Amino acid sequence: MRTWPAPVVPALPQPAGAGRLPVRVADSTTRTLREAAVGERASLYACGITPYDATHMGHANTYLTFDLLQRAWLDAGKQVVYASNVTDVDDPLLERATATGVDWRDLAAEQTDLYRSDMTALRMLPPATWTGAVESIPQVVAAVEALVAAGAAYRIPTVNGTDDGGADGNLYADVYADLDADADFGTVAGFDAETMRMLFSQRGGDPDRPGKRSPLDPLLWRMERPDEPAWEGGSLGRGRPGWHIECAVIARDGLGLPFDVQGGGADLLFPHHEMSTSHDRLISGLGAGGAPRVHVHAGLLSYQGAKMSKSLGNLVFVSRLLADDVDPMAIRLALLSHHYREEWEWTDTELAVGQARLQRWRAAVADADADDSADAGTGVGGVGGVGDGAVVGSPAATVSPTVAAMRAALANDLDAPGALEAVDVWAAGAQHHDHAQVKDAVDALLGVAL
Ligand code: ZN
Repeated sequence: MRTWPAPVVPALPQPAGAGRLPVRVADSTTRTLREAAVGERASLYACGITPYDATHMGHANTYLTFDLLQRAWLDAGKQVVYASNVTDVDDPLLERATATGVDWRDLAAEQTDLYRSDMTALRMLPPATWTGAVESIPQVVAAVEALVAAGAAYRIPTVNGTDDGGADGNLYADVYADLDADADFGTVAGFDAETMRMLFSQRGGDPDRPGKRSPLDPLLWRMERPDEPAWEGGSLGRGRPGWHIECAVIARDGLGLPFDVQGGGADLLFPHHEMSTSHDRLISGLGAGGAPRVHVHAGLLSYQGAKMSKSLGNLVFVSRLLADDVDPMAIRLALLSHHYREEWEWTDTELAVGQARLQRWRAAVADADADDSADAGTGVGGVGGVGDGAVVGSPAATVSPTVAAMRAALANDLDAPGALEAVDVWAAGAQHHDHAQVKDAVDALLGVAL
């Protein structure tokens, strides 16, 4: 899919001699801080939206988390490769389209456009590979056919799209992954059987579907039903892809397997990331070696006393705030004032705090700029940046202590509140000779244009 324009990321001065700080993040599997990427190349897959109810503040918080990770990686000198998806055909999207009387394709296109403009306004780094579920169908079909051939997937016959599970004489069928084929299934979240079963039920799974070998086996390919969109599926017959295999295939094709970080909101840990990682192991042929190295999850936001969710409808939309002339940089600062793993409640006060902080920071930079003009030639020059999310070169300059503190905070599990505090202290201080560098760092590391 077409992405959105990449914001320019300024290059920052690096400390002389010493190596750059490794970026550590909390791994949901080991529940420890781990280096997010150990090689020169850092690869990230963040699960994309299902295009309806885009873009609410929970989405923005999740994508901001992975934007922050990429910015920390870029500053650490990594070559960053980011892939994501848009689940532009799936049950919830079709249900919403039916309920509101619009064509599902129009709903998906309109909401994807909205997401694109919200991401642009929020200055999020775009993925290098951004693939829609519909676009990925030929690759998903090939992957599912290979899993069937390997005995890692099986068909459940259907008759006219009904789930009676026992009919014969039907050429086509729904296809499920056989989790018994993956010895490492369950290791991403580490949940016990009862928890897995409960979450699978709550989050779109079908444990009671007749004909399944195991209640948790996930759907890979859904046979065509009356009044549902369907595509040619080769030996699978006409149908559409399951969600977990969609992400596994798009990540494989965008990044290669294994990759460094798989990310999303906390509700994706199970079953989505457990299942897609299981698929990664099997479609890569690498077993445990095909799984993402680290799993990172952003906390979920609440609003008006309940989890912000599509089903409850208590959503705060980025586009609504932008239409009210809220500065998108204030939205970024409001979200960044909480650690990404925190679960917190969005309120108008949160936004007001972000707006006030943005004003203070901008005033500090503007005052220092004015002083520079009055006393030409004494300022530390700004450094140039490049487009496309890449950072090149390390301008020779002394690293501002404020910038060093921001870096240290972000390298420590993306501690954005710590980085904000460092800039707060700077803005409140009397010495602003390093304002050009701090301004660039606020842009490069936090994505906030002052
Ligand atoms: Zn996903």
